[in-house]
Amino acid sequence: MWSNYHCHSNYCDGKGAIEEYILSAIQKNIQSIGFTSHCPLPFENKWSMDNEKLPSYINELQHLKEKYQSQIEIYTSLEIDFIDGVSGVNSELLKDLPLDYTLCSVHFLEKLSDGNYCEIEGSTVSFLKGLEEIWHNDKYEMVIAYFEAFRRMLDSSAPNIIGHLDKIKLHKYYTGEFVIDTHSDFYKKEAIKCLENIAKTDSFLEVNTRAMYKKNLVDPYPSIELLQIANELNIPLVLNSDSHHPSEIDNCFVSTATLLLDAGISKLKTLRQHTWIDAKLTKQGLIY
Ligand SMILES: [Zn+2]
Ligand SMILES: [Zn+2]
Repeated sequence: MWSNYHCHSNYCDGKGAIEEYILSAIQKNIQSIGFTSHCPLPFENKWSMDNEKLPSYINELQHLKEKYQSQIEIYTSLEIDFIDGVSGVNSELLKDLPLDYTLCSVHFLEKLSDGNYCEIEGSTVSFLKGLEEIWHNDKYEMVIAYFEAFRRMLDSSAPNIIGHLDKIKLHKYYTGEFVIDTHSDFYKKEAIKCLENIAKTDSFLEVNTRAMYKKNLVDPYPSIELLQIANELNIPLVLNSDSHHPSEIDNCFVSTATLLLDAGISKLKTLRQHTWIDAKLTKQGLIY
């Protein structure tokens, strides 16, 4: 049995209805699933949910929780962007929402001269524009700013789950313009500073498999090397696929479990009856 607390749907940039993800999850022996459509943002972008869809998102999940309660545990959440002073777990928009947990990620950094935010994922054009305009082509400064955003997120409002830490490494695969050696002392030092801050909070760190099945990366976000350090720092871990299609609900879980077990990581968090518990990780799934 598995669980997955990072699933999108057609409420944001995912393909397929929430119910299709649930049916796929039941078929794939997932016992507990959480939905995290991209939370609405106060500016135009390609992947977030429209603000006016939020009430029906919450209501639909409530209805499906009841409909499938004998087969699977379903949880309501959102993937919340952290943008300093603009969006985060404490956003006014989220105040009265009945979220079962929060998952927070960094997709945007500072504002560009055209008024848009520099994107960490998606548009390579926006990424390179930010690198040039904001960090004057100093990739090291950009990496520092990226990890600094996570540290500011933790200072202002730590979420239950921290989404895809070190996603910035993806741009190494998009463009030769941005080649940061993720095994370099510089990169590891910045990421580890971040992990040390996470260790002081109650947040869990996500093991995100998306780039393994979408971009053929050899390991998840963050890398196994960083997850090993997170484990030594006693940071609780959660395995998620960041699925944007019902078929992706457990993608690369078995191969990632193998990597984690080989790295000495044998415990993951899972939600049972609204309580986060420790589960034993095996190649066949979670045992609790
Ligand atoms: Zn994300
Ligand atoms: Zn996501």
